[in-house]
Amino acid sequence: MKLSQYIYSFLLSMMLSIASYAQSSTDYKLVFDKTDVGSGAIKVRCDFTIDFNGRDSLILDFGGNLEEESVAELSIKSNKVRYDFCPDKKTICFHKNKKDRMKVRMEYVFMNLTSVLMYGNSGAEIWESFYTSSGEFYYPMDRGNIYSGRVRFIVPDSLEVVSSASKNPERWHKIKQMVPLNFAFLDKTLYEKVSIDSERGFDVYQVIGKQADTTRISELKDLTTKAMKWFETKFGESFVNPDLGTYTYPTFVFHEGNSSFNRYNMGFISASQEKFSSYPDIYPLIHEIGHRWFGEYTMFIESGEKGYAFIIETLNEFMTLMCIRDIIGVEEYECIIRKYREEWEKIKGTSLDIHPIEITEINNIPVTYRKGPVMLDEVARKVGYEKFVSSIVDYYKTHKGQREVEFHDIFLNIEG
Ligand SMILES: [Zn+2]
Repeated sequence: MKLSQYIYSFLLSMMLSIASYAQSSTDYKLVFDKTDVGSGAIKVRCDFTIDFNGRDSLILDFGGNLEEESVAELSIKSNKVRYDFCPDKKTICFHKNKKDRMKVRMEYVFMNLTSVLMYGNSGAEIWESFYTSSGEFYYPMDRGNIYSGRVRFIVPDSLEVVSSASKNPERWHKIKQMVPLNFAFLDKTLYEKVSIDSERGFDVYQVIGKQADTTRISELKDLTTKAMKWFETKFGESFVNPDLGTYTYPTFVFHEGNSSFNRYNMGFISASQEKFSSYPDIYPLIHEIGHRWFGEYTMFIESGEKGYAFIIETLNEFMTLMCIRDIIGVEEYECIIRKYREEWEKIKGTSLDIHPIEITEINNIPVTYRKGPVMLDEVARKVGYEKFVSSIVDYYKTHKGQREVEFHDIFLNIEG
C-alpha cells in the first residue's frame, strides 16, 4: 500500500473498546468556596449519590499532585460511609453498606499544586483538571461517565469567577456532563473584562495595563467567529454541548501566568496575554477552539497510551490548519506547511524524530505539532482535502465521549 492509503485506512481502522461501568455517582451538589483561604486553595462541599448497582464498591478519581496535602481537613459526615482514600493513586474507594444507593457528604480543603506552579503571582488562579490521571481531581468523579448536579461558587468581592459551566457562577447552576469542571479566579484589580460579541457572548479578560489594542481585539472577534462557524459546520455539531462541558460560547482569559500555557478549558480559553498581544498571528487560539472537537475532553485516552498525542493534539492541529486554509486562504496555509516542514527537517536524524503515533505524552513539539500535520497534509494532497477531512470528522463522531479509546494501527508501518 502507498503511504496515503496506509494513513487513510489507519484512520478508518482505529478500533474502539468501551468498558462498561455499571455503577454511578451522580446528583451532585458542589460548592466551591474561595473565602478565607490562601492562593491555590479552595474549600469544597460536595454531596452526591452513589448507585452501587449490585457491586460492592466504587472507585472515583479524587486528589491532586501534592498527594497527602492536596486534600486537607477531609470530613465525611455520615459515619455509615466506609471509604479508602489513596492520595498517592488519586482515588477514593467507597464501600457498600447494605443498600445499593448511598448518599455521601464531604467537606475538605483542596490545594491545587498545578495552578500554583503555572499561574503563581499572576493574579489568576486557573483550576483545570486534565483528563488523564496526571491531573488534579477537585471532587470525586468518574471520568468519562455522565453525571448531573448543581454547582455554585462563593468568592470574596475582590475576585471574579469564570466557570466552564456558567456565565453566572455565583448562582446555583445545573450541570450534566461527563468531564470535570474547570474554573478560574481572577483578581479584579489586575484583570479587566470586555465583551466583544453580544450575539455569542465572547467575553475577554485581559491584564490591566497590558491590554491589546482595539485592532487586535477586532481581529480576535473576526477570527473566532469565522473559526467557530467553520468547526461547527465541518463537524456538524455546535460548540455548545453540555455533555462535553460547554454550556456557552467561550470566554477568553488572557493571563500573566506561564506564557507557554494556552489551554482549552471548555467554557473558557486561557492563554498568555503576552503572546496574544505580541504574536504576529492568533492562530494558536483557533487551535484552542478546535479542542472542543479534538481534545482531551472529547477523546478519552490516557497519557502513556500509544496515539495519545496524535489523537488529542496532532489531529486538532491538522484541523486547525484546514480551518486556516479555508478562512484565511491556501497561500497562507502553504506557507505554514512549509515552515512546519522546515521545523521537522531540523530534528531529522535525531532521537526526537520518531513516529507521531509513538508520542505518549505532550513532550515532543516538533513531531506532534509539526511533523504530524505535514504527514497528514501529504495524505490530504493525494486523497483530496475534502475527503480526508470528512474521514477525520467520521473518526471524531465514532469516538467522542467513548471511554478508553484504543486502536490497533497500521500507521506504524509507515516510514515518517
Ligand atoms: Zn492543543
